[in-house]
Amino acid sequence: MLTVLQRIVEAVNQAPDLDAALRMIVQKARAALGSDVCSVYLADHEQQQFVMMATEGLQLDESERVTLNFGEGLISLAAQREEPLNIANANEHPNFKLVESVGEEAYRAMLVAPIIHQRKVLGVLAAQQKKARAFSGEEEAFVVTLAAQLATVIAHAEARGLVSGHYSPWLRNLNGLPGAPGVAIGQAFIGRPAATLSSVVPRRTEYPWREIHKFRKAVMQTRMELRALAEQVAEYVAEDTLAIFDVYQSMLDAASLGDAVEAKIKDGWMAQTAVKMAVEDFVAKFEDLDDSYLRERAVDIRDLGQRVLSFLQEKNGQQHNFPDTCILIAEEVTASMLAGVPRKKLQGLVSLQGSANSHAAIMARSMGIPAVFGLSDVPLSYLHDQHLIVDGYSGEIFVNPPAQLIQEYEVLRAEEYELAEMVAEHRDAEACTLDGVPVSLQINAGMNVEHDQDRLGHYEGIGLYRTEIPFMMRERFPTESEQYELYLSVLKSTAGLPVVMRTLDVGGDKPLPYFPIHEENPFLGWRGIRMTLDHPEIFLVQVRAMLRANIGIDNLQILLPMITSLDEVDESTRLINQAYFEVRNELLQKDRNAQISRPKIGVMIEVPALLYQLDAVAKRVDFFSVGTNDLTQYLLAVDRNNSRVAGIYDNFHPAVLHALQFIIQRCAALQKPVSVCGEMAGDPGGALLLVAMGYRKLSMTTHNLDKTRWILRHVDSKTMHILLSQVMQATHPDQVRRLIRIKLESLGLGGFVRAGK
Ligand code: PEP
Ligand code: MG
Repeated sequence: MLTVLQRIVEAVNQAPDLDAALRMIVQKARAALGSDVCSVYLADHEQQQFVMMATEGLQLDESERVTLNFGEGLISLAAQREEPLNIANANEHPNFKLVESVGEEAYRAMLVAPIIHQRKVLGVLAAQQKKARAFSGEEEAFVVTLAAQLATVIAHAEARGLVSGHYSPWLRNLNGLPGAPGVAIGQAFIGRPAATLSSVVPRRTEYPWREIHKFRKAVMQTRMELRALAEQVAEYVAEDTLAIFDVYQSMLDAASLGDAVEAKIKDGWMAQTAVKMAVEDFVAKFEDLDDSYLRERAVDIRDLGQRVLSFLQEKNGQQHNFPDTCILIAEEVTASMLAGVPRKKLQGLVSLQGSANSHAAIMARSMGIPAVFGLSDVPLSYLHDQHLIVDGYSGEIFVNPPAQLIQEYEVLRAEEYELAEMVAEHRDAEACTLDGVPVSLQINAGMNVEHDQDRLGHYEGIGLYRTEIPFMMRERFPTESEQYELYLSVLKSTAGLPVVMRTLDVGGDKPLPYFPIHEENPFLGWRGIRMTLDHPEIFLVQVRAMLRANIGIDNLQILLPMITSLDEVDESTRLINQAYFEVRNELLQKDRNAQISRPKIGVMIEVPALLYQLDAVAKRVDFFSVGTNDLTQYLLAVDRNNSRVAGIYDNFHPAVLHALQFIIQRCAALQKPVSVCGEMAGDPGGALLLVAMGYRKLSMTTHNLDKTRWILRHVDSKTMHILLSQVMQATHPDQVRRLIRIKLESLGLGGFVRAGK
């Protein structure tokens, strides 16, 4: 049976369209089962009907739509129960409904299996037999297995079929991952890189120096082009987002890509070949990483390589005719591709690959461009020139939508604009609730950034500076002076405001390419403080660089990630003290009157074990910061990067909410400052609940700053407390979400969690 199944699935996968695929399924399944009839019905959720799409054995007239309403017949019963039905004499079953027009009356036995994809019933697969008899266990297992395999095939085929537009109306929308909120309406424009690495044929050279010269010239041209692109978008994006271009520039440095390419040229390869080889090596290293943020950097490296290549091939400078309402679509939209489209024309973007972590997504959010990612089932060519609606909240894309839908979305979009303007009005105000409870909003940062404080509006410091990204961008650990320069620029750019720098949180899900760690369970492995305490030389160098950078600026606070036990706190503190005294002595040797202060030390609450040791840890540290991303992952035992269990990962799980409430209550009793720096702090509902619980310091990505401030300024403590008390009674995350949504709608703030105002 297994080989028969495999053959069917292979054949179906190669079918040119959904109709052909379904016809093939019923033919082959009927033959394999030896049954008289085999049919496939698909669910039309709009019309609330099951539609017979293909049959082998019954009479289906092409021009006729044969349907059963939801709730009717054994087809509906199997779908409703989400389990197979094996009935010896279907006519006697109370739910049986005869579909006369197809000549069904002759058949007695019926085996129906639901076709389910990601918990959604797509349709059913049904076999029928004239003779009244129960199908055997093996036959039943075959149909169930086939239905399960076909679920994916049909889901993919649906995605492709709907774009060609000749299938039923219910197949018109594509579902991707929300990448940047907002609604866009416009015409698809397919963005393609000017040159592709894959098309380079490896060739050798006799004149390496000539090739090195060509490469260096191409790098220079790429740098200039990147600078021009950065200038082009500087008007529209936040300064920290512009740092993406700094990252590109530093990737071009000798220490990163440059040396690797030149080494290949010296080995006798032509410049184009050397670029291809070096970039593909880097890309492979990054693609191997578990951490989704870092994996996304492979896209940037490939983009950069292809830009250099386009100069080597002299293919640059192509002019494009962008449509006036352009929705940029690409296999992989890159930050620089996005920057290349005139802002006035750019309405939205769709990237078939990638996720909300990509630089293109970060930029899109910063520019206020709705974006959807991860539509890998859809061929690019199908979207060419199509009219689209892109819903960046839900991840939905409507292809050639009817006029009525366009009108509805136009209204929603107009409301979105109003909302954005309104939110920006208060950007310089402090965040406080309607009744005057102040909340300190800070930002999460982690790239080599100079923050433009005017552009960002009011914020009260960097609540989390992730130091691991610069470690990732190199081929070796950065030296103390490299780290010093970087930390100095961050501390200086935020002088006068606190900057919470977290010590290296690599290992486990974020291995360094030059320091591989092989583990069965990386999330439970050698991660964060566990790794750096085993390597005090790495820890000390980092802390020394931070302390030196802090001299004369005095806004540094040090945060320790992944703390599980008191020993780790004690050992980290001992090392920080050691580094402090070393730096202090060195400074005093140079200048006897020099001043250096010891920074505050804090601990991340992200491992649940810490909840039960708060009293003891509080005696040893100055503050806590709650990492809701990992706290959720470890409390719910769900890998935060695994898309298969993404539905279980939920900040609004009652266990997470109760843990957060426990933490704030304990910290208040201990009089220990605590902030939240996980993603939840910048989520509209999350921020409300956290403030209602008593948290007064929230640190978030910059793009959530304005809307969080606005929401807090439009709600009073009493309303938040009522919401919180309802939420804390809830038993399911969905209930929590519904309560939040109802509350936000009643406050006129619903536009922050769905399209429209
Ligand atoms: C967290 O875990 O919530 C956190 C802020 O840290 P990171 O996302 O970097 O693990
Ligand atoms: Mg964390």
